[in-house]
Amino acid sequence: MPVYICPNCKNRSVDVDGFEGLTGSAQPQCRRCGFGFVFQLLEDFYPAPSTGFLVCDADARVLAVGRGVFELTGWHDADLMGQDVATALSLSDGEAIEVVREWGVRKLGQELDLVTRAGIRKPVTVDLFPAYDDDGGLLVGLTPRTA
Ligand SMILES: [Zn+2]
Repeated sequence: MPVYICPNCKNRSVDVDGFEGLTGSAQPQCRRCGFGFVFQLLEDFYPAPSTGFLVCDADARVLAVGRGVFELTGWHDADLMGQDVATALSLSDGEAIEVVREWGVRKLGQELDLVTRAGIRKPVTVDLFPAYDDDGGLLVGLTPRTA
């Protein structure tokens, strides 16, 4: 059964009654916080309290920014929207994102660095999930890592 995660409040839900949609009527959204995206996962995933999520399109450009990303990176939603996620965050390695996009597989626990808006290099664990709908895209989870 598909599991959905809200990139904003990280609420996880199982689509028992079709509320999460994909029936064509409305954009899927979070039933807890009303965020406009919920992301389908093939397997369940338990984010850390400090994890921040970004939803990206098939070109890895940022579509939506969840809670916690600002705290982690210093970037506001408006700074990130439409930007290439690896470039916007100055990720130390964008290859994992390419693999996820190309092969449609999840890649968890990537130990990378990002650069905050203030120019500070910060170690993060990056979890990447491919989208399973026709539009493609991916979900990027950033969790601070103590070096
Ligand atoms: Zn939510």
